[in-house]
Amino acid sequence: MAGLDAVLDQPHRDFFDSALGNVFGTERALETYAQIVDGLPIASVAVDRYGSRHEKSLSHPIARHTSLCPGATEIPRAFLAQLTISGTLSFDDELLRAYQSTQPGSGRSFECCLIELVARAVHQIAVLLFQQGHCIHNDVWSTEDPAYTIDAVTAWRSERTPAHFRLDPTLFSHFAYGVVEQYPDGVADAVGYWAENRVLGGVVILDRSDSWHDEHQPEPNVFLHSDYARVTFRVWRALDKQQQSLVDFPLSGSSNTCSRASSSPLPLAASEKNLDRIDPEYATRRKVYRDIWSESRRAMSPRIVSATKDLSTRTVSVFGRVKETTSQMYIERHKDTRPIETAFTKSRCVAR
Ligand SMILES: [Zn+2]
Repeated sequence: MAGLDAVLDQPHRDFFDSALGNVFGTERALETYAQIVDGLPIASVAVDRYGSRHEKSLSHPIARHTSLCPGATEIPRAFLAQLTISGTLSFDDELLRAYQSTQPGSGRSFECCLIELVARAVHQIAVLLFQQGHCIHNDVWSTEDPAYTIDAVTAWRSERTPAHFRLDPTLFSHFAYGVVEQYPDGVADAVGYWAENRVLGGVVILDRSDSWHDEHQPEPNVFLHSDYARVTFRVWRALDKQQQSLVDFPLSGSSNTCSRASSSPLPLAASEKNLDRIDPEYATRRKVYRDIWSESRRAMSPRIVSATKDLSTRTVSVFGRVKETTSQMYIERHKDTRPIETAFTKSRCVAR
């Protein structure tokens, strides 16, 4: 891990600072971090998950949490305002060198590196805030209603929940990123992936199957792995237009919060036009993944995935997000039968 100043020249640093400032300046980012400081997500966010169990259970105590507890917003607002990026954040030096090697302001590799850096920053801030253990919710409710504390709500089971069913250790979780015992920061990393999903529209993952140094074979656009109700569970690739909007928005440089809110493409959402989708387990075999430790152990089993239809998206609008569709064939037949561990080992040696 390395600090930004150790690797980046001023132009690259300026682009990154501008990008991060604009993302952190959105209401979406503030409300996401405010929920972490509260200690519980608000109800509408808690149920807006793929295959949400809470959605079916209005008796779940999280249904009471329709707004943030008093004081939850002020802490992240002050934290973000005083954030010194150089002193707080650090990144994989391999990623920083890859970003430094790009032409600042143009090219697919520049875009992918910048988006990955921003995603990792969003993740790190969530980890930091979670580890600070604010738990505003308990300050309000622990004496007044012990059955409504963070631990009580998180551990709540209905009478029909099987005894062997393993609950997530936190309600800030993405359905595909819950193997906390594998993560360097444990539960806090699960919270970080959740924050990426809320702020950016999904966990940002990259195609690491090549170094992408051949100018005739540009790096593919970033992929996102979303966790929203009635949105595909598959990893989906951003369209050129989406990726461009993601880069253009952070680089807009506007200091006006209202202006940023109206122009913000965040969070990105999959639509019927995002036809390049990959089964999450198959993605790791194609070396499309985020962190080597973030993949489910189930993905370690070599498996050939045949062509199939993605039936996980339907024509529904949820919480103002337009979704969709009758999709077709998103998964290619893949003939790479190498053990996944070999693929991982090789991909880790690829600069980008
Ligand atoms: Zn609360």
